[in-house]
Amino acid sequence: MLFQITEKIIRVLKGVTEPRIAVKDVVSEPAHKSPIFRGRHEVRYDICTGCDACNKICPVDAIKMKPLPIKRPNKVPEVNLAICIFCGLCEDVCPTKPEKAIKLSGGNIEMLTDGTHEALDNFWVRVNIPDEWIENKKREEEEKARKKAEMLAKKKAEAEAKKKQEEAKNSNRANVSSKPEKGEEK
Ligand code: SF4
Ligand code: SF4
Repeated sequence: MLFQITEKIIRVLKGVTEPRIAVKDVVSEPAHKSPIFRGRHEVRYDICTGCDACNKICPVDAIKMKPLPIKRPNKVPEVNLAICIFCGLCEDVCPTKPEKAIKLSGGNIEMLTDGTHEALDNFWVRVNIPDEWIENKKREEEEKARKKAEMLAKKKAEAEAKKKQEEAKNSNRANVSSKPEKGEEK
């Protein structure tokens, strides 16, 4: 445990002390190589829960959560690679299993732009979700909410029926015990 924490601290310190990607370098050199770049992030919106843990742990505020019009995930992370120090803490903390919903892809070590400031948008790892996927999710969530409401209504009706039965039983018992015994009758 102590080893893991120390290793994470070292990773962050290394990231913040090593030369960062300079925007001007990337613009002047369209395929720029940064000494700390460890690959773009891959974000799996289909397994992300929107828990916000990656955003909260990021030591340099490189993550912004993109809001979604569904309940889960109600937001997904997008990463600004120009700010990121590639410490990997976002991947470490992501709770999804067996696959992480956010991970550094490794591999590619080049920051590509076409050499213009407009192309700096490429620094953002954007999460593009097809409308169809969102619509399906909405339908799934509505169906789930409908089933849940039905189940709750059923349980409520069962509980009320049980309560009424108990009340009827108790009232019967009370009637029987209040009837006078034969010998007691005048
Ligand atoms: S790797 Fe993740 S946690 Fe680390 S700086 Fe980049 S976005 Fe933030
Ligand atoms: S990517 Fe992982 S840590 Fe980030 S919001 Fe999604 S589930 Fe949570």
